[in-house]
Amino acid sequence: MQIADPQAKFDSRSHWFTESSLAGSARLGECLVCSNLSEWERQAIHSFLWEGMMSPVVRREFLKGRGFCGRHFWIAKRIEDDGWRAGGIGLAILCENLVEHATAELPTEAELNRHELISPFRRKRDIHAFIAGSGCIFCRDRMEREESLVEILEYLKNKPTWSGRLEQSPLCLHHAMLALEIWREPEDKRQLRAALETQLRRLQADLNNFIRKHDWNHREEPMGREKDAVPRTIQVLTGLLRQFPFQKAGLRGRANNGNGER
Ligand SMILES: [Zn+2]
Ligand SMILES: [Zn+2]
Repeated sequence: MQIADPQAKFDSRSHWFTESSLAGSARLGECLVCSNLSEWERQAIHSFLWEGMMSPVVRREFLKGRGFCGRHFWIAKRIEDDGWRAGGIGLAILCENLVEHATAELPTEAELNRHELISPFRRKRDIHAFIAGSGCIFCRDRMEREESLVEILEYLKNKPTWSGRLEQSPLCLHHAMLALEIWREPEDKRQLRAALETQLRRLQADLNNFIRKHDWNHREEPMGREKDAVPRTIQVLTGLLRQFPFQKAGLRGRANNGNGER
């Protein structure tokens, strides 16, 4: 059922909780939605490792999606490394399950012996090679959540208490484009489009200056705001840098000492 008025939908679903969550995600210059999703996925994966994976139904759904995608796998590893000081075995159990499934998917002798006729006129056959996390449950839930966050933002941005928040933590390109598709009011979309274009043009000018000042003829010119134009551009194009968990040095080879702290 479609509810026409976004405010009614907001109130009827008690989305005030999301409002406080989004307000907590406001960090100057960082996409509000990316920030919120980054916190949310850490909490979701933490709960999954702590108790969700013990549920046979949840575990089956996880395995059906072929486990974590690459990014969520490394987030899970980082959470386990940081949160289970004695060394968790949750990920080891999930890895064992996934390896078992992968082994069961190896082609049979009969499949290997099937002779394929090679002809330039033959239709190319469909190939479905194994991809880890091709149905990652965290990616799926993340997409659902980001759509609902973007939708709610249209209502929040017009609230007096939210004045300026969206401008101070502007959406990344993906979330701005998503808002331009999801939002309802043409005036809201027009404002967002204008802000996005200004942001992109400013980035372009900074990148031009960055490139120009690396030329031998201009190397004497001091760097200005363009000095971090590349990481800022990557952030605008792909979302938050901190969504990518970087491996901490010195964690390699840490063994479970058997204390079983989980
Ligand atoms: Zn974003
Ligand atoms: Zn994922």
